[in-house]
Amino acid sequence: MTIVAAALRFDPGTMTRLDTHAVHAGREDLVALGVHVPPLDLSTTYPLPSVDGGGAAYEQLATGGRPEGVDSLVYQRLWNPNVDRFERAVAELEDLPGAVAFATGMAALSAVLVAAVAAGRPHVVAVRPLYGGTDHVLATGLLGTRVTWARADRIAEAIEPETGLVVVETPANPTVDLVDLDAVVAQAGEVPVLVDNTFATPVLQRPGAHGAALVLHSATKFMGGHGDAMGGVVAAGEAWQVRLRQVRALTGGLLHPRAAYDLHRGLQTLPLRVRAQQESAAVLAGRLAEHPAVARVLYPGLKECDPTGLVGTQMSGPGSLLAFELPGGHAAAARTAQACRLITHAVSLGGVDTLIQHPAGLTHRPVEAAARPGEGLLRLSVGLEDVEDLWADLEHALH
Ligand code: PLP
Repeated sequence: MTIVAAALRFDPGTMTRLDTHAVHAGREDLVALGVHVPPLDLSTTYPLPSVDGGGAAYEQLATGGRPEGVDSLVYQRLWNPNVDRFERAVAELEDLPGAVAFATGMAALSAVLVAAVAAGRPHVVAVRPLYGGTDHVLATGLLGTRVTWARADRIAEAIEPETGLVVVETPANPTVDLVDLDAVVAQAGEVPVLVDNTFATPVLQRPGAHGAALVLHSATKFMGGHGDAMGGVVAAGEAWQVRLRQVRALTGGLLHPRAAYDLHRGLQTLPLRVRAQQESAAVLAGRLAEHPAVARVLYPGLKECDPTGLVGTQMSGPGSLLAFELPGGHAAAARTAQACRLITHAVSLGGVDTLIQHPAGLTHRPVEAAARPGEGLLRLSVGLEDVEDLWADLEHALH
C-alpha cells in the first residue's frame, strides 16, 4: 500500500504565506486600536447618527452592501465587526475577493440556493457523494431548487438553460472521493461552480484557483477546530457576496459574533492542525489497509483512491478524513464504532479529537438508498492525539 507523500509538488512559498495569513488575517487594525486580540462586539443594535443617515445605512446593508463607517452598522443581523473579521480572514486564506459567513454550513448552502432561485435559475447539477444534509436539501427541493445528479465527467450534458449552480465536494463526505476541479469548471462553462471545501480546508486546496465561483465551508469543522462553535462561510467574488449578504440580512441566518470570534481564532492554528492531523491519518490509513478485519480503506493518500494524481497537484496533501469498510456490514460497523474508547462515536469532524461515525445510519441517513454509503462503512476524522494511542484504540475496537 503506497501513501502519497504530502506536498510533493506544492510551492513551499505559498504554504509559508498561508501560515502567516492564518495568524494575522482579519486583524490588520489591532495595533492601531491598541489591542492584541479583536474586541468582541455583542451589540444587537447601534446608535444612529440621524434618522436620514440611519435610514440610508439600513437600506445599504439590507440590500447586501457594506457599511460606510462605524456609525452605520445599524443592527447585528445586518453587520457585525467580528463576523466581518472572520470573513476577511477566510477570503485571504481562500485567495478570493471576499466571504460571507452564516450561522452554520447548511445556512450558508441555503443562502446560495435561495440566491440561485431568486435569480431565476433554480436548476442545480450536483455530483454525489455529498454531505447528507446537502444531498437532503437538494433531493427534497425544499428551497425551490430542482436537482440533476451527474457523474463528475458528465456535468456538461446535465446543464440546462435554467441551471444556476454546479455543486461538488472534494474530498467528498463520507467516502473522500476526489473530483478534478479543472475538469468540472471547464464543463460548467458559464454556470457558477460551488465547491464544498470543508474536508480539504484552504490549507490543502483552494478551489478558487481552479475557477470555482463559490467556496463553501462548514466552519464548524476544521476552521473552529475544537467542536465548540458552529458556522458556515462562502468565499466568492463581489457580485455573489452582495447576493449572499442580502439573503442573510433578510432571512436572518447570521453567524453569532461570539462564534465568529472563536472561528476566527481557530483559523490561527488551522495550518498546524491540518498538517498534524493529516500525518496521523496517513499512518492510520496505511495500517488499516493491512488489517485483516478491514475490507477496504478509502483515503486520498492511497494511490488507488487517487488514480489521476490530484494529491500533489490540486491538493497539497491527502487530509485527515478517511473511511474504511468492514466485511460484516452494519453489525460489524456498529460494534466497532461502539467499542472505541479513546475515539468518540459522534458525528462532525475536523476537530482536535478523533471521531468515528457510521454514515449510512447517521450523517447520510436521508440519502436515497441507491446513493447511500455501504452499511459496513465507518468514517474516521483523525485528531491530534498520539497516533499510537489512536491505533491501539482502533485495533482493540476491530477485535
Ligand atoms: N458540508 C460538509 C462537507 C459537512 O460535513 C457538513 C456537516 O457535517 C456541512 C456541510 C454542514 O455544515 P453544518 O453542520 O455547519 O451546518
